[in-house]
Amino acid sequence: MNIQTKLAIIVISVVIPLSSLAVYGTNPNTESTSPENSKLQVISSFNPLHEFAQNVGQDKVDVTLLVPVGVEPHDWEPTIKDVQKMQASDLIIINGIGFENWVDKLDDNNYQGTIIDTSDGILAKKSQEDEYDHESGDPHIWLNPVYAKIQVQNIADAFSKHDPQNVQFYQSNAESYIEELNLLDSQIRNDLSNCNSDFIAFHDAFSYFADEYGLHQHTIISSTDSHGEATAKKLESVITTAKELNIKIIFSKETVDARTSQTIAHEIDGKVLVLSSLEIASDGTYIEKMNQNLENLKEALC
Ligand SMILES: [Zn+2]
Repeated sequence: MNIQTKLAIIVISVVIPLSSLAVYGTNPNTESTSPENSKLQVISSFNPLHEFAQNVGQDKVDVTLLVPVGVEPHDWEPTIKDVQKMQASDLIIINGIGFENWVDKLDDNNYQGTIIDTSDGILAKKSQEDEYDHESGDPHIWLNPVYAKIQVQNIADAFSKHDPQNVQFYQSNAESYIEELNLLDSQIRNDLSNCNSDFIAFHDAFSYFADEYGLHQHTIISSTDSHGEATAKKLESVITTAKELNIKIIFSKETVDARTSQTIAHEIDGKVLVLSSLEIASDGTYIEKMNQNLENLKEALC
């Protein structure tokens, strides 16, 4: 090949694409949206859902966590700024079953986007106790990995519907993450299969988990009163239960004062371990924290 031919090839391969790019660039119809702005703008209500949405959407969506790191979502209320953030989003991902009590206010504010209820397809249990006698559902579905899989799939389906160009991407990300959840599920099933079944949790966050793995949860505090004080009567009955069932480990959650659990543990000559409800954003992934819970449950039950 002589030098002229080489030059000709370079000219063709460089100049032609550049000139077509120039034509493309001056077309007013293609200038309106940059790739950044065209991403789905998603709000996730609290930490586990945030992580699920990030795993499914990765770099193709912008996911913002609503309840700030370190804050308990049970009784969180949005500020005006939070409401404005929500108004500007395409999708808001909620847990559902009454966990996000602020969601009705969004309708009053004429929200134009879509609210994705990840509990869709999950049969809600009634809350174990409710001191106000409300007909409230138990929201803690994410603590059962089998239900977490449904939540992940619901998120993937919502992303697919609102961004059809990337259906394949969202569905295959969901598939890989669900595969990890399947592993976690079989690990829990195997590890706890020949162990005791009664455990004492702090608030009743583990009903779905207990049902799934054939365990029986006793609680110190009801879920609707997540940082409430246990009454003396309740403490006494928990101590009696622990003695009757020969339970030596009392669970606390990472964000509450462990003194209540310690009082009980002291009475039964046992000890306190953490069983995380994963409600508060902190270090570690969903899978890591669930594995930590499993380790602590094994210590208590096996
Ligand atoms: Zn809770």
